[in-house]
Amino acid sequence: MNNFGPSDIQPIKIDSNVRFSSIGGLKEHIRCLREMIIFPLMYPELFKKFNTRPAKGVLFHGPPGTGKTLLARALANECSVVGGRKVSFFMRKGADIMNKYYGESERNLRMLFTQARKMKPSIIFFDEIDALAPARRPSDDHTHSSVVATLLAEMDGLCDRGNVIVIGATNRPDAMDPAVRRAGRFDRELYFPPPEADARRDILAIYTKEWEPSLTNDTLDNIAKVTVGYLGSDIKALCSEAVLKAVRRVYPQIYEADYKLVVNATNVEVTTEDILAAMEEIVPAGNRYVPQAARPLPQHCVPLLQGQIQAAVTLLRRTFPVPAERQKQKTQPKLSTSAPCVFLISGECAETYIAPALLAQLEHCIVKELSIPSLHSAHSYSPEQAVITLFAECRRTGRACVIFVRDLLAIWETLVKKNGAAVLLQLWRMRSVGDNTLLLATCSGSYGELPKELQEVFPVYKDCIYCVREPTLTEVNNFLAPVVTQLPLVPPVVFNVIPPPPLPRDDDMVSIHEDC
Ligand code: ATP
Repeated sequence: MNNFGPSDIQPIKIDSNVRFSSIGGLKEHIRCLREMIIFPLMYPELFKKFNTRPAKGVLFHGPPGTGKTLLARALANECSVVGGRKVSFFMRKGADIMNKYYGESERNLRMLFTQARKMKPSIIFFDEIDALAPARRPSDDHTHSSVVATLLAEMDGLCDRGNVIVIGATNRPDAMDPAVRRAGRFDRELYFPPPEADARRDILAIYTKEWEPSLTNDTLDNIAKVTVGYLGSDIKALCSEAVLKAVRRVYPQIYEADYKLVVNATNVEVTTEDILAAMEEIVPAGNRYVPQAARPLPQHCVPLLQGQIQAAVTLLRRTFPVPAERQKQKTQPKLSTSAPCVFLISGECAETYIAPALLAQLEHCIVKELSIPSLHSAHSYSPEQAVITLFAECRRTGRACVIFVRDLLAIWETLVKKNGAAVLLQLWRMRSVGDNTLLLATCSGSYGELPKELQEVFPVYKDCIYCVREPTLTEVNNFLAPVVTQLPLVPPVVFNVIPPPPLPRDDDMVSIHEDC
């Protein structure tokens, strides 16, 4: 809660360096924004001739650090560059608009829209718009409903479509008032997924393009492959950390000295090893609170479980498209409506290794988790509400999704107690998520332990169940070989204990302590 003054309704200065080319991946989003926002500004005559109405608003949603703000900034820049017209860009956080005094928040909002209209063409970007337009509930006080109503009225009042565009960004679209998401307000919703391998490669290339020597294509490919679960912001942080690793490796002396030493920047080269070492320091954002659903098989488990993963993928392919085919035909293939789109992995390691490795191969899909913590998270009002919201979100994305049910039996028991089991079954039977969503579940026990209702969802005759088997003798041998037989034969690593040579002091600079 703060004071909102005249300076808050001034457009911000746009950083001219942020262009669409500064964004890795998100090609489809860029194409869509060009069509919806840039073309109406550049070619108003085309839209006038056919009397079509350009977009009023676009909602960006997705996890934090996936480039929503970056894309909005790039858009503002591209509009002014490509359209040849100066576009005013207003950027506000939802919470900045709010004020504790009655009627002030609404006034702030109206002032912002009035200014944007005056300075058109303009883009108003509301970051964290869920704070501004939270779902209204009967129990809420009047304040929030009134702010939401003002936002709706202002958006509805934008008759000059195409000249004032509202972009909202949120990590929690489910927490927003449904009225705001109705067509005619935010005409389009763009989901910002965690980047796939290709997008991660693009982002890495962007942040390392100035490095001398530059990373090879093979290195970029390999790093992109092992950074599953890294978001755009994580990759940026990884690059910064890798540079620090390289500096530490080449000039450890600077860590000991409290004055400036003479160093030569050209001696510092970032290697693949620096990046891999940096990965040990960075915990990807999605992994900080709960382990990420999609995780490639750890290297040491490959001899033990890779065979089973291959077998599970082959089986899964019969019910849902998996990578190899997808990589070739970049578009999202349509599934036959009779495809069951369900897959159950039962047995030991199902939840810890097999399912995460399968999900890592389904990177083109949006993964939504149904787990005990998600049912009880602070964001869901009740377990059945959590299930309804999850299904609705899958449908809204319009992309291939996976609903990943961790420990099916535990979820089922919780839902049965809270009257949510029938909701889950009915939503699934109605295919309310559309035909392009896979229900992937794990179960630590055997298939026979599942109640009849769940066995109907995962029928044996549809070949959609993979039972994790005991490892074979060869698999166990291959798994243990490096530890039992090969490791003792590897010569011990001898660390360089010779201290690095001292570096001359750079007398142009005063000591750090003196400076302070
Ligand atoms: P939040 O929801 O927390 O506001 P966001 O989705 O708006 O997050 P940004 O602020 O756009 O995320 O991204 C954070 C940083 O991560 C950006 O400064 C940018 O450097 C980097 N980044 C994220 N995604 C990309 C991407 N696709 N390409 C290049 N850089 C990216």
